[in-house]
Amino acid sequence: MAHMENRQGLLAKHRQQVSSLGGGVGHTGKGHGPTGEVVVLYIDQKQCGCQSMALPWLYRLPDFTTLAVAIAAKLLHRRSGGLNGMGIQIMTDFDIEVVSLSDRLTHFYWGRNLDHANFIMRVGGGNHVIHQGRSAIVIDTMCIPGQGQWVKDYMTATHGIENFTVVSTHWHSDHVVDNAVFPHDRIVGHSLTRELMLEHRHSLENSTAEGSPAFQVVSPSITFEGRMDLWLGDLKVELHEFGIHERGHIAVVIPDDKTLIAADMLEDPICVMNLGHLPAEFQLREFERMMTLDVDHIYATHCPLETVKAGGYDKRFIENMAGYMSGLMADAASPESGSKPPQAYIADALDRNELTWWEAYEEVHQWNREAVRSAVKA
Ligand SMILES: [Zn+2]
Repeated sequence: MAHMENRQGLLAKHRQQVSSLGGGVGHTGKGHGPTGEVVVLYIDQKQCGCQSMALPWLYRLPDFTTLAVAIAAKLLHRRSGGLNGMGIQIMTDFDIEVVSLSDRLTHFYWGRNLDHANFIMRVGGGNHVIHQGRSAIVIDTMCIPGQGQWVKDYMTATHGIENFTVVSTHWHSDHVVDNAVFPHDRIVGHSLTRELMLEHRHSLENSTAEGSPAFQVVSPSITFEGRMDLWLGDLKVELHEFGIHERGHIAVVIPDDKTLIAADMLEDPICVMNLGHLPAEFQLREFERMMTLDVDHIYATHCPLETVKAGGYDKRFIENMAGYMSGLMADAASPESGSKPPQAYIADALDRNELTWWEAYEEVHQWNREAVRSAVKA
């Protein structure tokens, strides 16, 4: 009886997941393995016509058998070079939430969890995919190895994407971790992103840091400085260099949708300030230049999902980041700045609900204070 109930519960969960995966394109089955690993079987009914046959059969399987089927299918997937012909996609579950921001922009969100050992998980992470027809531009390849593959599999299974282009917004590991998943695709980035990835190749490929797991470095194959345009059919996608957060950082603009994807140049509630090569005065001028972009919808990598789901941000996000940075700089020499809480620098924005305080950023604020102190000393 208990088993029956479990199965009913599992079935309900599967149904829920099918709808959350969007539009009834396919079915999923989910099994918990003995090691606690969760595997999602994604079955595209359009391709396999399985709605009456395979799925009831799959639902009848106890969890561990589902896992066994998943592993067998995964092995077959590797050997045959793809199960697409059979309409089966295997996805390891990273607790990634998929949010459709428009009919051509999809957000993949991972986080936020204050107790997580991985710093990126504490502040949350993710990426964005712009898609039209069978082509997609993947903006960054997520936070830990395997997640880029998850995004690629998802886009292939749900949107029939055949041609991928990757844009690496900057070289930090939580943005380029799975570039290796796109070995035959164009990877576009700033020339400095390529340079910095190669310069840090050894530490990136041998990292033992929890927040920055080791991964295979695949640097951009197409580089530029300043500005570049990409096209998805007739949809223009602009790449703009801004000297904010990291050298060679790229912002992505979809002019037709007045949309800006700012990656790490804007974070909610506060940005991570790297001042080594980019003086604060320069970054503040870059925020001003960003304000001149003709955009109404702004998205970033590290922010609360609730705000994203409620429509994202507008240009006040840029003003608030600049306000935090200039406030911190103005206080650099003040003896009280050490005891001043980060919330004090963004109090108005928090009051107006333009930013949302998140405890993990206490740590970020301490780094920023340190960065400001060293910059002022230098
Ligand atoms: Zn970054």
